[in-house]
Amino acid sequence: MFSTKVSLPGYPLELPDLIRLELEPEAGDVPAAALVFEDGEGGWFQLGNSTFEVRSPAIRSLLGDVLLVNRDRGYGDRVLRRKSEHNTLLITERCDQLCVMCSQPPKDYELDLFGEYRRALPYAAPSAVIGISGGEPLLYKNQVFELIRSTATSRPDLGFHILTNAQHLTPEDKSLLADLPSGRVKFAVPLYAAEPNLHDQIVGKVGAFESAIDGITVLMESGVEVEIRTVIMKQNADGLVDLARFLAWNMPDIDHWAVMQLEYIGFAKKNWDSIFFDHSVNCDPLLRAIGAAEQHGVRGVLYNMPLCTLPEQLRHLAPPTISDWKKKLFDQCANCGASSGCSGFFAWQPFEKTYEKLGPICDLS
Ligand code: SF4
Repeated sequence: MFSTKVSLPGYPLELPDLIRLELEPEAGDVPAAALVFEDGEGGWFQLGNSTFEVRSPAIRSLLGDVLLVNRDRGYGDRVLRRKSEHNTLLITERCDQLCVMCSQPPKDYELDLFGEYRRALPYAAPSAVIGISGGEPLLYKNQVFELIRSTATSRPDLGFHILTNAQHLTPEDKSLLADLPSGRVKFAVPLYAAEPNLHDQIVGKVGAFESAIDGITVLMESGVEVEIRTVIMKQNADGLVDLARFLAWNMPDIDHWAVMQLEYIGFAKKNWDSIFFDHSVNCDPLLRAIGAAEQHGVRGVLYNMPLCTLPEQLRHLAPPTISDWKKKLFDQCANCGASSGCSGFFAWQPFEKTYEKLGPICDLS
């Protein structure tokens, strides 16, 4: 795990809030500061006549990053990490749901970084896929779509992955959606049960299921790619097989269905004992759900699930999905021959709250 923030003690007043860290001076819309000195604790960068310190033992791993400086707190947010495949733009912390497992509970304040994101995105790595997240990012749907459209003009190679509850989309948005760069934008929409009341209970909002279905219909009719996401919990594990059939019958054109495990943070941490479903002990609901999905032509995948917690016949569906900066392995993984292809664990997951059954696959010791 590493941090998405870096310490910038004494960042000079005359320097801009959005800045790039580079090896050499470079022209560009976002000013580039060049590395002039480094030691084991960090490096010094120069822009014009000003220099500033960036404290990080791995200073060269930051080269190419775009930082948004928070002067009051003395750090820079790595809004774009050039060497990472896991860049996600936080659009807002506001949300109109209150999900029982929310990893980032909503906060009601305005966050308008569209201008900064528009300037930072052209420096993304070639063909990178940029996450768009929140809160609920489509509370600001016009700004989000405009950000994608304007970026696609200069960087047609970039892709975008939008995590949304889809409830703010209306049939009038179809033309906006059709204008997004073809084949480069994917929407991921959570759906937790085929039974409307259960979905509404899980997300803490009456009528959420019906609104989500309407929004997904708008997405499908606009021809954009849709992924349905379902977090497995005690509340919905037994109903996953019904959800698989619901998806197959009502939205057979989705790209895939992702069944995911919880992230031990936010409301999920607070509610852990009442919601965590340990599939390492009982994998039957997963096996039945994935089997039903496949039988009806829906591709199932498993996110955030360590390989050793799954039966062998499901492991090929579980890619390593935990972002590089959030991932860790436990001591038990030390000799595991499968570690490079394994999701591992969220960095904040305590061992005593994780899966009962885990341990090396093909022990290399
Ligand atoms: S033991 Fe291996 S398969 Fe299990 S979590 Fe660790 S690395 Fe992944």
